[in-house]
Amino acid sequence: MNQSTVDMTCEHCEAFNEVSYSGLGVQSSGMVKCAVCAGELLLWKGTRDYNKAELKISPAKERILTRDEQHRATEFLFESARRRRKLLDTPEITNSPMLAAAQAEASAFERAAEFLMGCADNTGSA
Ligand SMILES: [Zn+2]
Repeated sequence: MNQSTVDMTCEHCEAFNEVSYSGLGVQSSGMVKCAVCAGELLLWKGTRDYNKAELKISPAKERILTRDEQHRATEFLFESARRRRKLLDTPEITNSPMLAAAQAEASAFERAAEFLMGCADNTGSA
């Protein structure tokens, strides 16, 4: 019995599934469900017997940041906020419309950084 696999991207959740199949020798039919969302991945009919789908790559929208990625993104946002705050100390722009813009941007960057820090997977951290 020769077994092979076929890769399929779920049209419902975009998960990348791997489905194994083997030659059946007789006509049959069935349905393979996505390993992530259980949506219909494949409706088959013929002499290939398809098995369960296995997840190969998670849907992009559910990808979790690694600690390193999270750290770098947070640093970038804080650094951007620091630059805006520094701008606020520049006497030349005290009465300029740039002031309000820099202030709003600094706050937005800080809020984003804090949000990102809140997304930390804190399991196992000391
Ligand atoms: Zn799916």
